[in-house]
Amino acid sequence: MNDIWLLVQHREGSIEENTFGLISEARRILATLGTEGMVTAVALGQDLRDELNNLGAYGVDRVRYVESELLVRYQGELFAMVLADQVRKHRPVCFIMAQTAETADLSARLAALLETGLATCAMDLDIDSTGTFHVVRPLDNGYRFEDIRFAGKDTPVIAFLPAVLTSQEPDRDEQAELWFETLEEGAFSLKTKVLRTIEADPGDLDIEEADIIVAGGRGVGKGEGFAAIHELAKAIGGTVAGTRPVIDWQILPYERQIGQTGKTVLPRLIINCGISGANEYTAGMEKSQTVVAINTDPRARIFRFADLGIVGDVHELLPMLIERLQNIKKSAS
Ligand SMILES: Cc1cc2nc3c(=O)[nH]c(=O)nc-3n(C[C@H](O)[C@H](O)[C@H](O)COP(=O)(O)OP(=O)(O)OC[C@H]3O[C@@H](n4cnc5c(N)ncnc54)[C@H](O)[C@@H]3O)c2cc1C
Repeated sequence: MNDIWLLVQHREGSIEENTFGLISEARRILATLGTEGMVTAVALGQDLRDELNNLGAYGVDRVRYVESELLVRYQGELFAMVLADQVRKHRPVCFIMAQTAETADLSARLAALLETGLATCAMDLDIDSTGTFHVVRPLDNGYRFEDIRFAGKDTPVIAFLPAVLTSQEPDRDEQAELWFETLEEGAFSLKTKVLRTIEADPGDLDIEEADIIVAGGRGVGKGEGFAAIHELAKAIGGTVAGTRPVIDWQILPYERQIGQTGKTVLPRLIINCGISGANEYTAGMEKSQTVVAINTDPRARIFRFADLGIVGDVHELLPMLIERLQNIKKSAS
């Protein structure tokens, strides 16, 4: 029987949106294979049972849950060992996950332990008439693409760009079977040990984790202009991100790119400065809670997504906004 595995991605006890997109993708893979099979969601963590029980309604047939307090916080070496052990025992057809900073690490470790093929940043997956998996992934930040074919019958590990995953509403009145195991301390011999975790300054936060984002686009310009984006982020306790042109100019590193070939963000507030709102950009930020946009062009597509739209020049508006915020801070302290 074909068993398609997906990784349950969760934060603070709640299953993340990406997981529901993976369920839809897993069902699509199963339908393409056209044979009997199951969609299995694999979860590592603690106190997740209530959340996992809901997955049946979204299309999961079986949940494999390894529970332990050792799995509350991500530790790459241990997580990869636990997952590799599960894969070796049950031999799924493939193992899919959503690309995040964490799974960029995890997927590589898992594929290495299993000595199998890996595709990160997957945009499309197809299966040919021989049952072989093909994955399309971007090269050079989406300026070119490659089509990868997986050789052999080992379980391929595939991490999808979140922007290409589309989740659906729960549409089944079914419960997934829950297969449960506990992980005992010392079950795997590890070569690394986490001594402590260090909280990041809001400005250094990974954009996927950030609550407040100030994003700059081509309209901000290459030179001094971008300093205002950093200043505004500092003034409101946010982190800085950008569009592809800004990353191409090397003003920000690739890790700070929002969009189809970058990261998908879910902040409480995002302020878009000098960004047109191309499809490939908005795919990575359209689920943000409150969207502010500043653009000189009143017809810019970004305004369709904005809760607050300001038609104006960022070079005039941002210094005024920063000054106001700094004055408010001063008078409050
Ligand atoms: C396969 C593929 C994948 C891609 N992936 C991504 C991706 O992941 N992320 C991404 O961002 N893009 C991606 N792109 C590129 C995308 O199509 C757009 O080209 C890009 O998002 C545009 O970035 P921008 O909004 O910064 O620039 P522009 O589209 O040039 O927009 C600049 C905006 O700034 C405004 N402006 C100009 N001056 C000012 C000023 N002084 N004050 C205020 N506003 C001003 C203009 O009116 C304009 O609306 C991808 C493209 C392809 C083909």
